Amino acid sequence: MKDDIKLLKLNGKSRINGNGYSNGKINGYDIIGDNHIATSTDTPMHKNAFVLSDDAKMEIIKDKFRDILETMGLDLTDDSLQGTPQRVAKMFVQEIFYGLNPENKPMVSVFENKFNYGEMLVEKNINVNSTCEHHFLPIVGKAHVAYFSSGQVIGLSKINRIVDYFARRPQVQERLTVQIANELKKVLHTNDVAIIIDAKHMCVSSRGIQDESSSTVTAEYSGKFKDKSVREEFLKYLDL
Ligand SMILES: [Zn+2]
Repeated sequence: MKDDIKLLKLNGKSRINGNGYSNGKINGYDIIGDNHIATSTDTPMHKNAFVLSDDAKMEIIKDKFRDILETMGLDLTDDSLQGTPQRVAKMFVQEIFYGLNPENKPMVSVFENKFNYGEMLVEKNINVNSTCEHHFLPIVGKAHVAYFSSGQVIGLSKINRIVDYFARRPQVQERLTVQIANELKKVLHTNDVAIIIDAKHMCVSSRGIQDESSSTVTAEYSGKFKDKSVREEFLKYLDL
């Protein structure tokens, strides 16, 4: 109990610029840690984030990851381990964190809504493969997206690509949800967008509290979806 009070106090003191925290640890207390608090809707990137090429980043990550493995006592001359630093570097930059690089953002072309389809469009059970930025462990789940066309539509697979792009970053689920919603509003030229993400966090199931059955649900409703009946219609489609 005493610790909780201390932690709260530190939380208040440590906020900087209203949208971020200073370096994560003050007086030995982990500010965010298992609380999984999102501090901003933007992924926090430093100003030199894109100075290095992807190849240069992979070279550096390879060396640093080798250091980590060696520090843990592993013998990197072993056949099974010697390629691991290279594999992890490539996986970080080109696969699980490719969404950090804006150059990889999916190009989305918009089409005219020729069928005059005016009802809600729902795309459900979109795969979400992301990574918790507090523990660097997987977040795995599904996203369900809905929108009303403003007269323009996008290819359905583009919704999957947008979800995947923002998921492939170190993330917190709340931020991921808002980032996807904002991007959909932008490309679809409408505010009438809804998204629900239901995901399991490996940092909750395989360490810490080790709860394997819980999942985390986040949602963002804008425009027409602020209306309770519209929201209920969306939720009803998810039960089908
Ligand atoms: Zn975590």
